[in-house]
Amino acid sequence: MTAYQIFTSEQAMRFADEHSELFGEHSKLSATEFGDGNLNLVFRVVNDKGTSLIVKQALPYARCVGESWPLSTDRARIEAEVLKLHARFCPEHTVEVLHFDRALSAILMEDLKQYDILRTALIKGKQFAHLAPQLANYLANTLFYTSDFVLTGPAKKAAVAQFTNPDLCLITEDLFFTDPYCNHERNTIHSLILPSARALWYDTDLQAEVAMLKADFLSKPQALLHGDLHSGSIFINNENCKVIDAEFGFYGPIGFDVGVLIGNLLINYVASPGVFKTPEEQSQQQHYLLTQIHTLWQHFADTFSQLQQTATQDPTLQNSRYQQRFLQQVFTDAIGYAGCELIRRTVGLAHVADLERISDAKQRAVCEIHALTLGRVLILERAQLDSITALLDKVQRTVAAIAAP
Ligand code: ADP
Ligand code: MG
Repeated sequence: MTAYQIFTSEQAMRFADEHSELFGEHSKLSATEFGDGNLNLVFRVVNDKGTSLIVKQALPYARCVGESWPLSTDRARIEAEVLKLHARFCPEHTVEVLHFDRALSAILMEDLKQYDILRTALIKGKQFAHLAPQLANYLANTLFYTSDFVLTGPAKKAAVAQFTNPDLCLITEDLFFTDPYCNHERNTIHSLILPSARALWYDTDLQAEVAMLKADFLSKPQALLHGDLHSGSIFINNENCKVIDAEFGFYGPIGFDVGVLIGNLLINYVASPGVFKTPEEQSQQQHYLLTQIHTLWQHFADTFSQLQQTATQDPTLQNSRYQQRFLQQVFTDAIGYAGCELIRRTVGLAHVADLERISDAKQRAVCEIHALTLGRVLILERAQLDSITALLDKVQRTVAAIAAP
């Protein structure tokens, strides 16, 4: 067994060569590190015919901060095992893991170079009708088949233990649920929205609801989540989309994965006036996003409900009234987590390009205030929003009603 060492390009190349037949015997390989992520090294290894694979290695610390933020390399095991399990239930939309080495915390996987990152595509105004149905499929299948509807009690408990992920869960617990609601040094707040950000620190009604959502995140192990399903973790092209980067995976509330994804579509929605030049482009993009959110929920709920009715193993959980209530609660949770994502991406540590790329500071501030206001409304009113049309109506009305600062 090789001891852990941080890969050079040369070592990443050898690792790829050793664990794949793809390159052939006499191929000339080259490798470059090109990761733009926050935590890990990502290498692309290419042969002289242009065939390529990706090597992702976890560092013993967070890449974006350095050695002062140590982080368990066990996250690479979690990532590889979540991706492999999710691929069992939804191979079409999960990146393929070819090999995982535990000692080196390194994953060899397929190269998605024929795809674009969804966030980048959305910012460019690219629209894909298959986005929502495909991701709804991914969510319904991966979440249902790892849940109590299918697993026996003992199998479920073993799975919860296998996917216990304390270091990365702590990042979410802090950055998603705690920091944005206090004056934390990790926050990044643009000066023009300081009064709105500061209001969050004293908003005890909001903080009570965020505490409920955090408590569920801590103690509702419903299914094996991806754990970080933002639009930078999704690759898309004209035919297909695939999910990557499952290192935050753990057993948590199903509404978290659904809500983070919806939250990211809504971030693009509020950013649209700063991203697109003409009012026509803006409203076209916003219409597209609302339609996608509608389809995403509808298709997810239909598929999940169908699976509940036909594939539930536990006789008690076959009760149809229980199954409907379960799904309704997932919807309510998802709206709350979508609201948290809007807020934390605006004032927390990890900002997103949809808002950051808006070069006019005043215009960006308007969009950021929309994100904060919408996030707050979704968290506070999630229990009253009992259908997807009620949610989308609320989104439109809330954003339209906010005056510029
Ligand atoms: P991190 O967990 O460190 O944020 P990611 O898994 O998000 O790392 O990967 C960082 C970047 O590396 C991605 O944004 C993408 O550009 C590239 N990347 C990662 N996996 C793949 C892949 N399978 N195919 C192509 N590019 C990839
Ligand atoms: Mg990551």
